[in-house]
Amino acid sequence: MHLILLGAPGAGKGTQGALLTERYGIVRLSTGDLLRDAVREGTALGRDAKRYMDAGELVPDGVILGLVRDVMARVDTGVVFDGFPRTRAQAEGLTSLLEDLGRPLDAVVVVEVGDEELVRRIAGRRTCPECGATYNVHDQPTRVPGVCDVCGAEPRSRPDDAEETVRRRLSVYREQTAPLIDYYRASPTPVHVIDGARPVDEVAAELAGLLDQIRG
Ligand code: AMP
Repeated sequence: MHLILLGAPGAGKGTQGALLTERYGIVRLSTGDLLRDAVREGTALGRDAKRYMDAGELVPDGVILGLVRDVMARVDTGVVFDGFPRTRAQAEGLTSLLEDLGRPLDAVVVVEVGDEELVRRIAGRRTCPECGATYNVHDQPTRVPGVCDVCGAEPRSRPDDAEETVRRRLSVYREQTAPLIDYYRASPTPVHVIDGARPVDEVAAELAGLLDQIRG
């Protein structure tokens, strides 16, 4: 199964994507996580990408498609794409990559959340700098305040979750990524829209129902 989770920053794509990997044994491919790994490791790609990320801008399509191609060459299970594609060029690149690999795209799921709720969630978001686990002080806190459940480090706000950067990321989403909904509506892949403003488990239940239906 190959599936795209499409939605604004803070819509819950990462959280839902992680739940899908547990339930269906598919791989979550988050280009944001791959880029943050590269930044943490201090690679040339990471240093270059960081400038764009800190400004809330998109990393160039060629870099992103290179990362995705590398992962797809290694992975032979299903994939849930999280935070990718974000531009028309990336969507076209993915279409031709999947065609080359003979792997069909089964569904695009749009996770919709209003701007006010997105801003509230992102302000509360905390990510573990050591292991990448994500939390939210409002509705998904660590068991012990300030201590990562997985590895014990202190979860922090992401640098690009600062308010001004978030505003830029939301407008980049509206300008460059939201138009992909129409791109996929015009394609043979079914597009489903779900209300992502509800609690995590309700969204997860709807998503699971949808995927069970898709898998037949
Ligand atoms: P995310 O964690 O998906 O919100 O991504 C964080 C940041 O990484 C974004 O604001 C972009 O700067 C960069 N990024 C992640 N995925 C992509 C992508 N598919 N295309 C371009 N830039 C990306």
